[in-house]
Amino acid sequence: MPARTGAEYIAGLRERAADIYIGGERVPDVTGHPAFAGGLRTIAGLLDLQHDPAWRDEMVYTSPSTGDPVGLSFIMPRDGDDLKRRRKMMSNWALASCGMMGRTPDFLNVAVMSMAAGADYCGQNRPEFKRNILDYYEYIRENDIVMTHTLVNLQRSRAVGATPFDDRTEVALSVVNETGAGIVVRGARVLATLGPLSDEIAVYPARTRRVPAGEEGKYAFGFAIPCDTDGLKFQCRDTVDLGRSHFDHPAGSRFEEMDAIVFFDDVLVPWERVFLYNDVARCNQWGERTNRNAHTGHQVVTKNVVKCEFMLGLATLMVDTLGSGDLPAAQQLIAELIENLEITKALLAASEAQASVDEWGIFCPDYRPLLVARKQMITMYPRMAEILHLLGSSSLMALPSEADLNGPLAADIHRYLDTDTATAAERIRLFRLAWDVSCSAFGGRQTLYERYFGGDAARNAALLYQIYDRTAARDMVQEFLSLE
Ligand SMILES: Cc1cc2nc3c(=O)[nH]c(=O)nc-3n(C[C@H](O)[C@H](O)[C@H](O)COP(=O)(O)OP(=O)(O)OC[C@H]3O[C@@H](n4cnc5c(N)ncnc54)[C@H](O)[C@@H]3O)c2cc1C
Repeated sequence: MPARTGAEYIAGLRERAADIYIGGERVPDVTGHPAFAGGLRTIAGLLDLQHDPAWRDEMVYTSPSTGDPVGLSFIMPRDGDDLKRRRKMMSNWALASCGMMGRTPDFLNVAVMSMAAGADYCGQNRPEFKRNILDYYEYIRENDIVMTHTLVNLQRSRAVGATPFDDRTEVALSVVNETGAGIVVRGARVLATLGPLSDEIAVYPARTRRVPAGEEGKYAFGFAIPCDTDGLKFQCRDTVDLGRSHFDHPAGSRFEEMDAIVFFDDVLVPWERVFLYNDVARCNQWGERTNRNAHTGHQVVTKNVVKCEFMLGLATLMVDTLGSGDLPAAQQLIAELIENLEITKALLAASEAQASVDEWGIFCPDYRPLLVARKQMITMYPRMAEILHLLGSSSLMALPSEADLNGPLAADIHRYLDTDTATAAERIRLFRLAWDVSCSAFGGRQTLYERYFGGDAARNAALLYQIYDRTAARDMVQEFLSLE
């Protein structure tokens, strides 16, 4: 089957309804529930871009097995041109959500692609795992499957000495049984962003954590299963899509990608969906050895370039509207946003300029600048939201709604809220967007997302420390010290 349309994706979610809960109720049909409506429309729109004559050529490539057009984020890049085409495609999807949706399907498409490219790595664990990951990659590519993932065990105790893995087994996801049909897993994980809007869920060790040795492999696994698998339950947080108009709630009404806790209640994972098992060392090296971290990093930083540019554009319109662009304080704040954009662009460009063919024959971006960019964003993004606060101040609260523009105080609103460059309606529309991005529940979740979705700052720092080859730097200083 070629790249899917939005309508086909929505029909698939309806036909294979997962067990989803929100606000004390079970959701019988996620495609008809208002909490998910805006996000669903946006994801469906991304798939539709693959069929839009104006976009199609940048969004799909020819399937190596069927000759059908399939999503370009599935491609196994063989050279720099492939990598650039993939980046352009991912950038187009990021633009459609102003960089505000992290779990657009390209994120997991590139993750599964890289694990399939390094299928021999899985085969070294058990020969059949090689075939499993290759088949799975082919399945998601040819059926344009929308995926989520959940990698971290639910917080229970982070006390010194405790790890997510030696905590109570009913919290940390672990294998509780092995049968002829597969492994049975039990536990709770956080989070599955886009979980309720996904067809399949992947589970594998997090980039920033290590599965401990000596646990007989019961915490060491990687697999993927349909979201409607028996025993799998998604507990959602409150929605940030409040059913308001795009004028009132411009981001929340469009870009709600919903995060869910995932409960695994004795879930059977069929053997053909297991990619690694009972091999602590291979689980811990998986992301680096298959360059999964580099490929997902390429997607994340591509998205972040769009997000940084969006924040800069928003801030620019704010100062233009308020006439504050001549104030040195405003200029300094805007300059910070420019620096963030240029740093992120430069790191993405460096990752491509330093790309090389890896041991699996895949043209792989350099992970080092991508890891730096991901870590930078953890502090950059909260600061960018703060800069919007500092530039907007009371205008972020002087926000009549769309209904108010035609309500009893309409005349006053139109008389008093215009500025030298904007009508009252234009000013309110702009500042409602700035408020939604930086102050609303949607905005708060964005900041938390950038702080944590890819692991916290401390663990990312530790990872950078571990992967960065400092030999040349050390030698340079040694050489200097050895001078007479
Ligand atoms: C909005 C959002 C979306 C997310 N989406 C996904 C998703 O789609 N898939 C997914 O798998 N995960 C997702 N996550 C989860 C994310 O991976 C984790 O939040 C992140 O790895 C941090 O883990 P934690 O929340 O358990 O915090 P903890 O590990 O408990 O850490 C909390 C704080 O304590 C510090 N800390 C605690 N223990 C240690 C330690 N031993 N060493 C150093 N510092 C420590 C950390 O620095 C951190 O600041 C998402 C998170 C958020 C907030």
